[in-house]
Amino acid sequence: MNKTIFVMFGPLASGKGTQAKKLAVQFNIPQISTGDILRENIRNKTELGKKVSEIIALGHLVSDEIMVALIKDRIEKPDCEKGFILDGFPRTKAQALALKELMIEEGLSFSGIFLFNITEALAIKRATGRWECKHCKTDINRAYNKDFDQMVLDAEKNGTKVIHGSGCDGEMEHRADDNEESIKKRYQDFTANTYPAYQELARDEVHLEINGDQPIADITKALTSFIEKTK
Ligand code: AMP
Repeated sequence: MNKTIFVMFGPLASGKGTQAKKLAVQFNIPQISTGDILRENIRNKTELGKKVSEIIALGHLVSDEIMVALIKDRIEKPDCEKGFILDGFPRTKAQALALKELMIEEGLSFSGIFLFNITEALAIKRATGRWECKHCKTDINRAYNKDFDQMVLDAEKNGTKVIHGSGCDGEMEHRADDNEESIKKRYQDFTANTYPAYQELARDEVHLEINGDQPIADITKALTSFIEKTK
């Protein structure tokens, strides 16, 4: 059986994770976010989590060796039987080359390589404002939601937790690495390391570059019609 395999590239807060979630539902395949996997390891205080927590807080990249081993292991899991979406991997040219090799070894081929473009200024605006519910993963951005922004200001003033309340009483949190210094570092990393990884894969594969500064629904539409056409 042919697997459906998409790879999402883009600077932080470019919307690739949002679109990956939608494709995951549409194709019934898992979204593999390496950032989420690493953060879960940090939360659970695993050996890997201890190794990477400082690296991530500083906005640096985790080593290629660790990341390639993590992906090799993850795509062997039974939920990847029909395919998977890579979100946050590969992030360097070395990771891209390792992925190509792995795909050949496993007899797999890519269904689509996507690049989401946004400026550094937009990455800063989006990432400094984004919060996520620890429990249900609902995300709300202070930069685009005045009521939520007020909720955060009130909680900060009163020393209380931020609860979004739409059907879930989980606590909202803002990522520690979503501060301006780390964002700038990660954006530069994207240009220096990840864009060459994209070029490495896009050269021989079906690919699409998307303007990430558009409404979510318009981007979903562009992706869906591209996938339909190139199927
Ligand atoms: P993300 O959630 O994709 O923004 O990832 C958060 C952080 O995890 C990054 O800033 C890196 O420190 C680390 N990370 C995630 N994926 C990778 C990767 N493929 N290679 C190296 N570091 C990664």
